[in-house]
Amino acid sequence: MRILLVEDEPKVASFIRKGLEEESYVVDVAATGVDGELFATTYHYDLVILDLMLPGKDGIQVCRALRSVGMGAPILMLTARSTMADKVTGLDSGADDYLTKPFAFEEFLARVRALLRRGPSGDPAPLVVGDLVLERSTRRARRAGGEIALTNREFALLEFFMRRRGEVLSRAVLAEHVWGLGFDSESNVIEVTVSHLRGKVDKGQGKQLIHTLRGAGYVMREDADS
Ligand code: CA
Repeated sequence: MRILLVEDEPKVASFIRKGLEEESYVVDVAATGVDGELFATTYHYDLVILDLMLPGKDGIQVCRALRSVGMGAPILMLTARSTMADKVTGLDSGADDYLTKPFAFEEFLARVRALLRRGPSGDPAPLVVGDLVLERSTRRARRAGGEIALTNREFALLEFFMRRRGEVLSRAVLAEHVWGLGFDSESNVIEVTVSHLRGKVDKGQGKQLIHTLRGAGYVMREDADS
């Protein structure tokens, strides 16, 4: 079992790492939220342990970003704070469990074992729009039975379009939900990614599913009256 620990305090990180290694887990440590996000999206982990207070990008932002690109590994959030509001925000952002520092190491290990037993979060039902099917558990997309190869970002974008089918989605909304807070929605990255995705999803198909509404944004729908 491979675990990613995102913790900026060296003493705490080394204490947790040692304890986990004694239990035979393989542990990678990232000292910033940015590194943590990079590790978690580059390598496979069975569990991510995420400190809430991190320099730069905090635990909540990292958690949201990881969920928005479809990372399914369970996330255990650690924090020195214990107010209900933080707890709710942590769980809302996609964390599976929450532990307040200081904690007893035995309790920490019990939570780790429970999350590892649970495995990747959920096995959500596939999303379906017309003959387009997105299986979130296996991260596979198919149109009219043909497999579509997607990058992580394209997958996140397609999942968001499908979840919000029929809704007009502005670039600002796409930026926030697919790229994360702070992303510059004025750059042309969104247009380029939508265009790549459309090429993969709609090209050569009878019905167009991803429609551009000039000045408003994009909408995913089956009818072709755009
Ligand atoms: Ca910290």
